[in-house]
Amino acid sequence: MERPISERLFSEAQAHIPGGVSSPVRAFKAVGGTPPFLVRGEGAYVWDADGNRYVDYVLSWGPLILGHAHPEVVRRVKEVAEQGLTFGAPHPLEAELAKAVKRAFPQVELVRFVNSGTEATMSALRLARGYTGRKYVVKFRGNYHGHADGLLVEAGSGALTLGVPSSAGVPEEYASLTLVLEYNDPEGLRELLRTRGEEIAAIIFEPVVGNAGVLIPTEEFLKALHQAREYGILLIADEVMTGFRLAFGGATERLGLKPDLITLGKILGGGLPAAAYGGRREIMEEVAPLGPVYQAGTLSGNPLAMAAGLATLEILERNPGYYGYLETLGARLEAGLKEVLSQKGLPHTVNRLGSMITVFFTEGPVATFQEARRTDTELFKRFFHGLLDRGVYWPPSNFEAAFLSVAHKEEDVALTLEALEKAL
Ligand SMILES: *Cc1c(COP(=O)(O)O)cnc(C)c1O
Repeated sequence: MERPISERLFSEAQAHIPGGVSSPVRAFKAVGGTPPFLVRGEGAYVWDADGNRYVDYVLSWGPLILGHAHPEVVRRVKEVAEQGLTFGAPHPLEAELAKAVKRAFPQVELVRFVNSGTEATMSALRLARGYTGRKYVVKFRGNYHGHADGLLVEAGSGALTLGVPSSAGVPEEYASLTLVLEYNDPEGLRELLRTRGEEIAAIIFEPVVGNAGVLIPTEEFLKALHQAREYGILLIADEVMTGFRLAFGGATERLGLKPDLITLGKILGGGLPAAAYGGRREIMEEVAPLGPVYQAGTLSGNPLAMAAGLATLEILERNPGYYGYLETLGARLEAGLKEVLSQKGLPHTVNRLGSMITVFFTEGPVATFQEARRTDTELFKRFFHGLLDRGVYWPPSNFEAAFLSVAHKEEDVALTLEALEKAL
């Protein structure tokens, strides 16, 4: 597969934009090579500037659960766009989208819209600190909550260390307010609660991890998380990826969670920039203008994003069978991947829940970030390029989830497995 136009566009972009990209993973650093410049999408497929077609398992990193350019979503965005792009004033679609969020997450009483998942988690933590009057927050290794300073922190070795910044430009003093624990380690979490529970404002977590590749929480771990609430700690389920994906009510519905706050993004905006945080009235009333926790945004709740998000959620609500379909297709992809990789005698562990899936190139189980890092990244590169050159666009890093949309069909999965077989 030739991509001369993408190559030219990439070198042009690099002259003007750091790394040629607006978000780092798009530059293909983990897998090498030139990223195809994608210029068109329809359903399960994308086309690059050279005219090559790919079955898309990235789906803009999660938002496009209905596939690309769903006709109803596009139509409703167009209708709203013709009336004006943004007003910076209240718009009727905001309350409509808020009501849809509340139907999906019944424990949410008030919801505030922002523009990105990063803003949602950053604001939720500010709110948790404002509400509890405490300063420490807890996150888990390998969980990603956007790029706000206090969340770009990863633990050193051991169950708990003072946070070590994992990005230049994050002062240590700032990072030290974020305590980092191993995901799926209930004992480590209980130990921290016993010793420092009273100092902690919030625990933020990916209920099912997608950002270290897919990691699935154990019952024990979820139980330990909920014990945090006995210490007056707010539990923040970061559902930016899982919300409306694992079920209409996200991981909260699917796993029976009881978070105090949730954060949403990705599918919430239906392909346009919208995200949100929400929870009980008593907590959310601390947010300005009702309360002293400040948070604002010029384009927050803008009509185009509200329209795309509302159309997407309404289509999902009208079609409750979609989640069963995604489960069936996901199971089929999982079984097929395992079969091909077993035939070739390659070490592998496939983690999947619903339409989120990762192939780790190591013998399992893979339940923690440490275990995820055992994956053979050289083998992943070959897996990735083998697929890409045969028309399958898989996420260009082993530490990411691949997604299915309702536009994906059995024949797309079959094509994917055939491509893999040939590649290997
Ligand atoms: C994508 C993601 C974010 C960040 O959202 P952006 O819109 O990229 O800022 C935060 N949390 C989780 C769980 C995510 O998957």
